[in-house]
Amino acid sequence: TRPADATVGAVDTHCPYCALQCGMTLSRAGRASVRVRPRDPSAGGLCQKGWAAAALLGSPARLTTPLVRDGGALRPASWDEAAGLVARRIKEITADRGPDAVAVFGGGGLTNEKAYLLGKFARVALGTSQVDYNGRFCMSSAAAAAHRAFGLDRGLPFPLTDLEGADAVLLAGANPAETMPPFLSHLRRAMDAGGLIVVDPRRTPTAERAALHLAPVPGTDLALALGIFHAAVADGRLDHGFVGDRTTGFDEAWRVAAAWWPERVERVTGVAAADQRRAAAILAEAASAYVLTARGTEQHSTGVDTVGAWINLALALGLPGRRGSGWGCLTGQGNGQGGREHGQKADQLPGYRRIDDPAARAHVAGVWGVEPSALPGPGRSAFELLDALGTPDGPSALLVFASNPVVSAPHSARVAERLAALDLLVVADIVLSETARAADVVLPITQWAEEDGTLTNLEGRVLLRRRALAPPPGVRTDLEVLHDLAVRLGQPPERFPADPETVFTELRAASEGGPADYSGVTWDRLRAGERLHWPVPAGPEFRRPGHQGTPRLFLDRFAHPDGRARFAAVDHKGPAEPPDEEFPLYAITGRVLQHYQSGAQTRRVEELRAAVPEAYVEVHPDTAQRAGLRDGAAAAVVGRRGRVLATVRCVPSMRPDVVFLPFHFPGAQRANLVTNPALDPVSRMPEFKVCAVRLSPAGER
Ligand code: SF4
Repeated sequence: TRPADATVGAVDTHCPYCALQCGMTLSRAGRASVRVRPRDPSAGGLCQKGWAAAALLGSPARLTTPLVRDGGALRPASWDEAAGLVARRIKEITADRGPDAVAVFGGGGLTNEKAYLLGKFARVALGTSQVDYNGRFCMSSAAAAAHRAFGLDRGLPFPLTDLEGADAVLLAGANPAETMPPFLSHLRRAMDAGGLIVVDPRRTPTAERAALHLAPVPGTDLALALGIFHAAVADGRLDHGFVGDRTTGFDEAWRVAAAWWPERVERVTGVAAADQRRAAAILAEAASAYVLTARGTEQHSTGVDTVGAWINLALALGLPGRRGSGWGCLTGQGNGQGGREHGQKADQLPGYRRIDDPAARAHVAGVWGVEPSALPGPGRSAFELLDALGTPDGPSALLVFASNPVVSAPHSARVAERLAALDLLVVADIVLSETARAADVVLPITQWAEEDGTLTNLEGRVLLRRRALAPPPGVRTDLEVLHDLAVRLGQPPERFPADPETVFTELRAASEGGPADYSGVTWDRLRAGERLHWPVPAGPEFRRPGHQGTPRLFLDRFAHPDGRARFAAVDHKGPAEPPDEEFPLYAITGRVLQHYQSGAQTRRVEELRAAVPEAYVEVHPDTAQRAGLRDGAAAAVVGRRGRVLATVRCVPSMRPDVVFLPFHFPGAQRANLVTNPALDPVSRMPEFKVCAVRLSPAGER
């Protein structure tokens, strides 16, 4: 709901939460609230989070005035005081310790325009290399694996609706029945045909719908993918024509996979050899088949290779680059795709360009009106950045936008310690999140329905999210905040526009010719309802481009110079922290239907909070009993880095060696108090998905 003085017509826009970006229409409901309606019920409508999305717009929990820390407590301040304080402290810290002493942490929920301007602000206004974002925690392994295999990363390299023709779909590490329920409407045919295969250690609501549920020991997904790959090849299902004509590297990949025959894989993963062969058969015999991966495959210290192993399987069966089949990644955050393309990532410039590529630096510097040599190089990845805060070599100031790392980062107690060691912590947010509570300055910003902007959904389609109502007095958009700070730091005002369409026009130019080319996308085309999947090159017609976009990538060639996809020779290693005598159980983490990410938003929506008000731990009844616990008891999940307090939920379908923690809850209920920050060597993604723990009554140490 929202106060009656706000002006609301019927406005077509998109949900503020996940990467499915379901279409919704907002309208005035009586005098005092905003009504949400799904725009496309045939595409699955909205989930409970989407239906409840408007509740936060008028929430008393939202911030409407800047706050500054004074005598240990946060007190209200004017924008001039707050922004002036931030700019002055940044100047002092930079003068004292250099530009890399100031860091920026962004988010995958930022619009394309905000992600773009945030990266530019870091590199140009601050001159720092120390910028990364929370997408490092959730999509970077799939992005790296896709780049390695195909030369380009776009979550789904085909339209979402193509999935509706699929007879078989393998979902690895994905639970869309809870994370994005309307997505399942696209899998109806595969489910009806008995072609849905789900790989997940837990019997999730998605796994309940599967014809075949493969439940590997946590951390052994890579071995399972090798086993199914092996079964496909050994049973004569290799697509020789495709592999010969359109790929390289099969022999090297097979040399590794040849040692992972299904019976051996069964001993490591616990998945029956017969089920591995059945999975290979279901995919190979379907006229239309897809392999889709998500966080469960990625959030490992071997995440890139694990995704690579699933891509190998898809390549062996000849799925990618063919109409009606393929591999894809189910991106998670609202702008998980766009957020990783426009330059808020430590190693990237806009247009999905590499920051260490001289040609990319020259192009982007030209658009920004600076010398290429003035642009900093690559900086630290997200966890490494957070872990360096307040250390002698690390940043001593941090600006956080659209993220809540106190809850969402791994080993979160250490992250909270590092934040406390800073000289300056600035947080821009809509509510007083756990990270904002620790800040020196808090800047209140607008919400999704109060501003215009574009996002790029999981199929690489650029969407216009529209302003439907006026923001409350006292809040600003992130773009206005960046504009104000940049000017206070001595930048020309026109270099940091606050108008989102103006920013987007500059983003188009910066992306032109890059892998994610948006130069042919205009807001007028989006307003007219065009469905534009990048790349959309403008060519010579920058003002009125006519390119229709690229719904399906790789139909003729993959993006590597030789046009071929690459198999990866990947081998199973297992988790960085396997269980042992002291910590005999695997802890895995994930989402629940009613909450989103750190829960900073959804925990403040009464309907969602009431549905799942606190953390719980799912555990097999026998495991609970061995720990002296029963259903409903207060438990401690204890690991090497900390302990999480949660209420026991006995679930007979759980593996006896596994406990599951949802990661949306704060304080002593933070799942990330125990998660392991071991990083993938390529993507630098932490191993959120598996660590070693023991279970005990909450009162015991
Ligand atoms: Fe919003 Fe995602 Fe739910 Fe759709 S599935 S309504 S985008 S949270």
